[in-house]
Amino acid sequence: MQPMKGVIAASFLLGFASLAQAHGAHEHGVADLRVAVEGGELSIELSTPLDNLVGFEHAPRTDAQRKAVAEAEARLRDFSALFVLPAAARCEVKDIELESPWHEAEHDHDHKHEQAHAHDHKHDDGHEHDAGHGDLHAHYELSCAVPQALNEVQVRLGEVFPRMTRVRAETATPNGQNAATLDKTRNRLPL
Ligand SMILES: [Zn+2]
Repeated sequence: MQPMKGVIAASFLLGFASLAQAHGAHEHGVADLRVAVEGGELSIELSTPLDNLVGFEHAPRTDAQRKAVAEAEARLRDFSALFVLPAAARCEVKDIELESPWHEAEHDHDHKHEQAHAHDHKHDDGHEHDAGHGDLHAHYELSCAVPQALNEVQVRLGEVFPRMTRVRAETATPNGQNAATLDKTRNRLPL
């Protein structure tokens, strides 16, 4: 293994550990973002309370709530509305994955059950079904033809999701590791 790669891999692991802690904190209005560049690969991980996206965290019950969830998921899949990268880097989205407790629940159960009795069911999908709170994780994988041109990413999450007033960002790139807090007015994350 090349030593440089080892350092980047280690920073990935540290990042996941701190995300897990942030997840424990679960602060409404705040989201966590991790941006990593390795070679021509750009990886962006977003972790956010569901409240920031739709204004509630219970499983959707009404048509309006189901619509709000579908719209939030569609917005999360619209990468270029959320993140602006330097055009010179020539990045292309390769993969987008969304994980939320509702998503899984809808796939795993085609029957309705009272939320209060949800714990009677086994959920071995690794998601927490604690009372009242839930998080969504989004993972974006891009490949960039000119990664040296990746000097910043503009984060527009606060414009798309107005309830998300603050984004705690961490970066891991060949230039090193950094952390910054972003909001609607300060939305440029240096890489
Ligand atoms: Zn919550």
